[in-house]
Amino acid sequence: MEHLTIDDSVRQTAAQCRHYAMCKIDYLRTGLCPSGPEKQYVAYYPQGRMDLYRALVDDLIPVTEGLIDAAETCTLCGICDVQCHFVTGMRPMKVMQALKDHVRKHLDEKKPVHAPTEDAVLKRLRTITGNDWATNDPAILFTYADDPFPLAGVRMPRYVVLPGSRDEVAAIVSLANQLEIPFAIRGNGGSVFGFVFTDGIVLDMSRMRRIDFDVDNWCVSVEPGVTSFELQQEASRRGFRVNAAEPAATVCGNIVCTGMFSPWSNVYGTAADGFIDMEFVGRNGKTFHLNDKNAPNVYAFEHAMIPSPGVCTRAVVKLHPVTADEEGVLVPFADFDKAVTFARELSQRRIALALAVLGGHYISTFMSPSQSLSDTIKRVVPDVLGIKYLVLAVVDAHGRSAIARMAGNVIDGALFRTLMLGLPRLAGRELVEIVGAYEGNSPPYEFLCRPEMRPVVEAILRPSPETIAESVDEDLRDFYTRLYARPEMTDIVWLNMFRIVSARMSRRKHMFAFLIYVPLDRLEIIKHVIAEFGRIAGAHQLDHDYGFLTPMDFGKRAILEYDYYIDHTDPVEKQKIADAMVTIGPWLDGLAATTKGVTFLMYVFSQGCSRKENFLYRVGPSPDREER
Ligand code: SF4
Repeated sequence: MEHLTIDDSVRQTAAQCRHYAMCKIDYLRTGLCPSGPEKQYVAYYPQGRMDLYRALVDDLIPVTEGLIDAAETCTLCGICDVQCHFVTGMRPMKVMQALKDHVRKHLDEKKPVHAPTEDAVLKRLRTITGNDWATNDPAILFTYADDPFPLAGVRMPRYVVLPGSRDEVAAIVSLANQLEIPFAIRGNGGSVFGFVFTDGIVLDMSRMRRIDFDVDNWCVSVEPGVTSFELQQEASRRGFRVNAAEPAATVCGNIVCTGMFSPWSNVYGTAADGFIDMEFVGRNGKTFHLNDKNAPNVYAFEHAMIPSPGVCTRAVVKLHPVTADEEGVLVPFADFDKAVTFARELSQRRIALALAVLGGHYISTFMSPSQSLSDTIKRVVPDVLGIKYLVLAVVDAHGRSAIARMAGNVIDGALFRTLMLGLPRLAGRELVEIVGAYEGNSPPYEFLCRPEMRPVVEAILRPSPETIAESVDEDLRDFYTRLYARPEMTDIVWLNMFRIVSARMSRRKHMFAFLIYVPLDRLEIIKHVIAEFGRIAGAHQLDHDYGFLTPMDFGKRAILEYDYYIDHTDPVEKQKIADAMVTIGPWLDGLAATTKGVTFLMYVFSQGCSRKENFLYRVGPSPDREER
């Protein structure tokens, strides 16, 4: 294969795609990449085209009929440029242009085009789904072969198939079993843990997108191609909320994989708490419902890596009521112990809905539309304002009053909006000087929270959509100004329901997240876990930071996230994380074996339908082991 004339920055952008699939949901109301919803294969979304360009440059695929179609159906509309910039800061349009240019040149020069031949297996798959929904085109296959997970390499499937119904899923699974071909199930993106790859058949569930509400019964039935964002939108239109997590992840995929967890897990729980029933095509091709008496017992939990019960073809998910007086507030703390203790108290007293202890890293990343602003805010918030942790709480009016009485200093919804729209000026000299001159023994953030200071804060920050738009490239400012004029973009409740900013965690580098269930009344255990993650990261020279902690089950347990950050395209960084895992795995296994309430989420993978009680309150430790 000939080599491309490579603009390194274009290749680098293509290789840096995080596979979060945010370009597959219309989360900024820009509309979607036009070819995606029509063609459905990942190759027809910006994410797939990024992979195609990288694969071409790296000589991993030939120019195929599928690749040409994927390139030519890009209209250079620019939607992906703003979508991707919002979460990653990247501008993929240059990749799309380069891909089109390459294909055009290839065709102009009359170079060969690979035309895949239909083999006997593909023919049978197409008999099940129709010709358009099964392929062995190497370019299309490549977009299902890799993700940023640093500990797995490219694994090309032989076929990708997009079933349109449960019966088609059952027929595909039966065929795969009959021919002894392995298969993997793929939701919207990748698992970013390398779990959705196979050298057999990939089932992409994107075509199965039915949503059926049963409002009288407080539930909604969803097929496996429905994303959290789409379902939350539909629920919200009807005055409800679902316990959904990452917006581009599919609801069914998320439940089966780990169960939904987010700050809403404080009240809505996780795993089996979130659904009423689920339908599966088992690995033997037979359909079952979890509520059948004779169904496999997936509500149990096994502390081991085990396969999923099959292909989820439907989930009946709970709807939760929403009251008109909900508000998101942030309570600042300089001290981790106090922040955790406060969050635990809120959870025990059933005061908050969504609840989490956030560190400065998450807050600055979520609020900032650019990496450079995020870096600045991360420094200013603790140094100038004295805020090291924020307890995020979504509350009703009663909870709001309770928090005001309990905490004193509260960043309410209106102040949050001011801070966010004035964020570029939060680091300005004016604020630094005025806070520095603030009298008293109180922490500096008190200045922000005092109602009488609100006009001063507003005068300094001059919050407006135009102000926050100053932080992005000049050619994007009009777009960002219009975007931030929309009230939901600065509404803590909406941002937590739809979670469109959480993917910004991977903006600087790919995030490698560790999630651990911990006993919330054992602060020393929680601090030990955080310190040990920090120590191991330091020993391997990995970027790292505390993520969040969310109370669960009325403050008895919590889920803790600690993140490592790596450039997944850098072999040195990949090796560092591989080396770190040699220490982390045994350490966490040992901790879980000797400490009640500790479970590494990795063991919940594929067991997301289990009862949370079975992993939050695992029996043990065994008597012959020393308890911490
Ligand atoms: S520029 Fe191309 S890849 Fe990007 S959204 Fe538009 S059509 Fe899709």
